[in-house]
Amino acid sequence: MVNPNPEFSAETEIPEEISGLRMTRQRQEVYRILMQERNHPTANDVFMRVKDRLPNISLATVYNCLEALVQHGIIRQVNFERSSSRYCSNLQEHGHFHDKSTGVIHDVVFKPGINLTDVLDLPPGALVEDVEITLRGKIATA
Ligand SMILES: [Zn+2]
Repeated sequence: MVNPNPEFSAETEIPEEISGLRMTRQRQEVYRILMQERNHPTANDVFMRVKDRLPNISLATVYNCLEALVQHGIIRQVNFERSSSRYCSNLQEHGHFHDKSTGVIHDVVFKPGINLTDVLDLPPGALVEDVEITLRGKIATA
């Protein structure tokens, strides 16, 4: 799913440092790809897109950039079974819905006012620090 982000264009200036990570030109362009189209690309998807702006970049460099961005909490790495890691620039707490018929991965958020403890029977005293929810299915077409 192409989900263009109007706040992020090819001209948007990216800071030289984000969350303590020095943003090299390569990291900036990788980050731009993830912010522009929030469709959970794989490293290879990012590589194909970033080549428009950085024709000499290698796939290994793209992986290094993605890893640095993930380690600094600037983007999230999402793993789905039996497929390559995807990258997500939505840092709000959310889960994913994997549409098996199209392969599209949708962000899904909690409805306002709903807490995990309202719907899940957690062990007493459990403090949730990280949420990773993946739902799989199909979206019915009308
Ligand atoms: Zn996501």
